[in-house]
Amino acid sequence: MNRTRCACSAWTRPPIIAQRKGTIGAKDNIFWRNTSTPIPTECDSQILHDFLPPFTATAVTHLEKGGWNVKGKTRMDEFGMGSMTANTQNGERVVNPWAGGERSAGGSSGGSAVVVAAGEVEGALGTDTGGSIRLPASYCGVVGLKPSYGMVSRHGVVSYADSLDCVGVLANSASDTLRIFKAVSYPDPNDPTCASARARQRAADVEMQTRRRIRGLERGRLNGLRIGLPIETHLPPDQTPLPLGPLLKHLQALGATLVPISIPTIPLCLPAYYVLACAEASSTLARFGGGWYGTDSERKAREEVRRAGFGREVRKRIIAGTWALTAGAFNNSYLKALQLRHNLRKDYQAVFRAPHPLTSDLETPDERGVDVILHPTAIQTAPLLPSADNNPSQPPSTRTTDTAEYAQDILTVPASLAGLPSVSVPYGVSETDGWPIGVSLTGQWGMERLVLDVARVGV
Ligand code: GLN
Repeated sequence: MNRTRCACSAWTRPPIIAQRKGTIGAKDNIFWRNTSTPIPTECDSQILHDFLPPFTATAVTHLEKGGWNVKGKTRMDEFGMGSMTANTQNGERVVNPWAGGERSAGGSSGGSAVVVAAGEVEGALGTDTGGSIRLPASYCGVVGLKPSYGMVSRHGVVSYADSLDCVGVLANSASDTLRIFKAVSYPDPNDPTCASARARQRAADVEMQTRRRIRGLERGRLNGLRIGLPIETHLPPDQTPLPLGPLLKHLQALGATLVPISIPTIPLCLPAYYVLACAEASSTLARFGGGWYGTDSERKAREEVRRAGFGREVRKRIIAGTWALTAGAFNNSYLKALQLRHNLRKDYQAVFRAPHPLTSDLETPDERGVDVILHPTAIQTAPLLPSADNNPSQPPSTRTTDTAEYAQDILTVPASLAGLPSVSVPYGVSETDGWPIGVSLTGQWGMERLVLDVARVGV
């Protein structure tokens, strides 16, 4: 299977630099104030049409200081809400660059995955709230890293759901991904949720302890590495796009120990994620559309701006999120989802060998625990792009239903809710349709380098 298509559908405006070397793409929810050719940041939303950002996001500033040039802004689902990069301004669709049919690039960072897969840049920044870097990476056959929550500054990044949003990296190899991640991963006084230098040092200390137990990592071996395989993410052979068997054998041959584990809260993560993400979105998006106060006619104007400016999916999520926060629904929806998130974090901590650098006693690694957790990134290969007339008035059999779109995130939302680093790495193409599929490696908070090293050596 070749990558033949160009990435023209993936840029918001024609790229301003021709070459690939030293250039990156930046998702269109990340501020980039380019003074020579001003390019708006629109989040693929009419409500931000032609909005010129007043400053450049911290992550992009770090890259520019490190000698990278932003080649252009990449298309996305409106405000990051979607899994196919099809919820876009004017309904324009981003096409997966692999040859063989009009398939989705995944979402919401589909544009970033496409420009990387088509070889137009060395890497791209995306954002991942519930899978938006990892799913497109899996569908487009590239590497996609969602860092630990707080590792990369969100200053200058338009919020979708503040407690989940992470800025991350897409690239063609684990080493390139690590290089770009290192360039953007610093404390930032402008983002109170960005990890402090002290927190990073604690994470580095814990990671060092872990690396000492894994022998031969630099020489391509994984001796001593313990890889957890959650029973909850195990897909029966007839439902998996690509069986994991050969990969698991390969990892064992490199010296890794495979450990069956259980994270019992995983099956409840998808509904919990959508309740929390929508609830937060109903609040973060309240800033668009003018002031709350004023005369009746001013309020009406605000309603009109929001109705015309937000697309269907965004309006739907604002309503769902507002409902989840109402007095009548709060206990049974928002609070339950928060409780699930709390239990999920405990479940993860119970299976890791390394202690959580921010919350636990650093002296007590659990030797029966695991260093990384492995499972497929997605339950399918890239789906067909919804047709242009994919709207709710069509019968469900002829369109991608909302629930089918949401279900694509089922294996990516757990690491998001737990705030853990997770990387999707290409590990082959499906035997049935020949499209790429990725495998995910998730680690303890702050262990980006470890998951990327295991990806580089073992997958
Ligand atoms: N598909 C998920 C959603 O629509 C995740 C999106 C994201 O990570 N930004 O919420």
